[in-house]
Amino acid sequence: MAQKVISIRPESLMPGARAPRYDGGQLADTLGRPMRDLRISVTDRCNFRCVYCMPREVFDADYKFLPHAALLSFEEIVRLAGVFVGLGVKKIRLTGGEPLLRKDLATLVGMLAPLGADLTLTTNGATLVKHARALKDAGLNRITVSLDSLDEATFRAMNDADFPVARVLEGIAAAADAGFAPIKINMVVKRGANDHQIVDAARHWRTDGRGRGHILRFIEYMDVGSTNGWRMDDVIPSAEVLRRIAAVFALEQAEANYGGEVAERWRYRDGAGEIGVISSVTRAFCRDCSRMRLSTEGSLFTCLFARQGHDLKALLRGGASDDDLRDRIAAVWRLRDDRYSEIRTAQTEEMRAQQRKVEMSYIGG
Ligand code: SF4
Repeated sequence: MAQKVISIRPESLMPGARAPRYDGGQLADTLGRPMRDLRISVTDRCNFRCVYCMPREVFDADYKFLPHAALLSFEEIVRLAGVFVGLGVKKIRLTGGEPLLRKDLATLVGMLAPLGADLTLTTNGATLVKHARALKDAGLNRITVSLDSLDEATFRAMNDADFPVARVLEGIAAAADAGFAPIKINMVVKRGANDHQIVDAARHWRTDGRGRGHILRFIEYMDVGSTNGWRMDDVIPSAEVLRRIAAVFALEQAEANYGGEVAERWRYRDGAGEIGVISSVTRAFCRDCSRMRLSTEGSLFTCLFARQGHDLKALLRGGASDDDLRDRIAAVWRLRDDRYSEIRTAQTEEMRAQQRKVEMSYIGG
């Protein structure tokens, strides 16, 4: 279902208006943040119905997903990605929906690899066992797998797709065999759903666990989109996650790998690897947020919690030059002032009912 794109905005960004010529200067938004990361959603479809992202009661059999013609083609994605890299983007993450549902994704990876950006992918791992080798050979650098529980019943309840954990674990093992280690494992923690498995998950993914030392990251349950029925009461703060693990395995905080890294790193004192926490609700990280998002059908979103986007497809298919595209993207970024997680309060909760936010499955997590 197409998301709303038109809204009140500076004249130069109105559809059809000419964006100011980009002067080649340092590209920073209104909070001084550079544009370093691009998340590209290559499909709005998914084979899971995770309750915090695509609840089945909304994304049911009658839900109208985007027709293929509405999606950006691989050539259009690569062209735009080239413009973004020219504007300073260093990392490109392929997302969805579930990106591995997009046919021939390894071909797209092969087309993007020559741009020289750090190429990564986030997947639910359902079909990873089939694709891991081809993705690696095509030039993908890193993989993140979403896995909310190792317990069969809990996993099926959270992905609401009756899909076995074992198949995802096989996918992770295949990706490791293909050379993608360490793999990041994302676990969204929701109170009463899977928080009772925090320590078990930590134990599994330690280097001395059966998980072979991949990096488990605990993600605070977020009010993404407008359909997951989010309540603050269902959030397990990262501080509590760390407390529970530290009660069993001693932890120490580790340096960030780079500025703007989303996950806070914690190392096991006994050397058995590390974990991460992603705390959008209780420890907002908007100050360093350098992420731009490109939706499946070619709209720019400057925040995961955005309410509207900026259409690039009309320009792209309207004969715009790369300079025109660059000017538009630069103008959008320079006017960016998003910091939703910093201002999230009960008030934003009320607003939520009035003004729909874009669905995470449409722009990628
Ligand atoms: S809430 Fe928006 S601005 Fe803040 S970190 Fe998330 S995506 Fe960035």
